[in-house]
Amino acid sequence: MSATQLFLLIASPFIGSFISASANGWPIWGKTLRSRSHCSHCQKNLQARDLIPVFSFFILSGKCRFCSAPIGINHLMAELCALLIAIISVWVFSDTLVLASVLLGWVLLFGALVDLRTKLLPDGMNLILVISGLLVSFWQGGGQGLLSAALAVIIGFGVFFLISKIYLHLRGREGLGLGDAKLLAAGGAWLGVMAISWVILLACIIALFSMIITSVYSRKKLEAKTMISFGPALAMAIYLLWMLKNANIGLL
Ligand SMILES: [Zn+2]
Repeated sequence: MSATQLFLLIASPFIGSFISASANGWPIWGKTLRSRSHCSHCQKNLQARDLIPVFSFFILSGKCRFCSAPIGINHLMAELCALLIAIISVWVFSDTLVLASVLLGWVLLFGALVDLRTKLLPDGMNLILVISGLLVSFWQGGGQGLLSAALAVIIGFGVFFLISKIYLHLRGREGLGLGDAKLLAAGGAWLGVMAISWVILLACIIALFSMIITSVYSRKKLEAKTMISFGPALAMAIYLLWMLKNANIGLL
């Protein structure tokens, strides 16, 4: 294992903690640090030993040291997700692309967390993913790779844009946000034009499963008007397909 790979694995839970705090603070970056260093219940300052990713949660048995209020597991899940992303990336990639791969995963994790909280996807995040995806596609496939990626950006955005306009016209309310269209375009930039339909299919399957699980868990009936965040499913689909594409199992 190279020094870079080892560093990524050790740093990933800390980065996950930062991603989680940033997603909680978005769009106000000043809130980022505050949201992590106070107990949200008793407002007491947390100490450094309470802020060690993953580890602190288990040492404190998931409760605040001062008031025993339960600590939300959102931070813990984000830290574990960031670690998982690093493990899979290190496992699949041995070269420079491991850096691109963890960055893609971590930025998507940030977007998914923001979408879960606000039902919005940051434009800046989508823009960063489109540009970095085009660069990585050029790095991997030269001019042809770049062309395929650029086409995928246009088609990815276009497909969801059309669906959202048709839905709005037929139902008179918004069904699919433009943030999702931009995220699909970003996925296209990373995966190329052949992967667009796979991304949509996989994202729909993930969204459907999470809807069913959520409705069983919360005992709420699913209705046509039930709002779901499609962004997290889309983000997960993009990352899974990026891994499948590069794991050389001949799917894409
Ligand atoms: Zn407290």
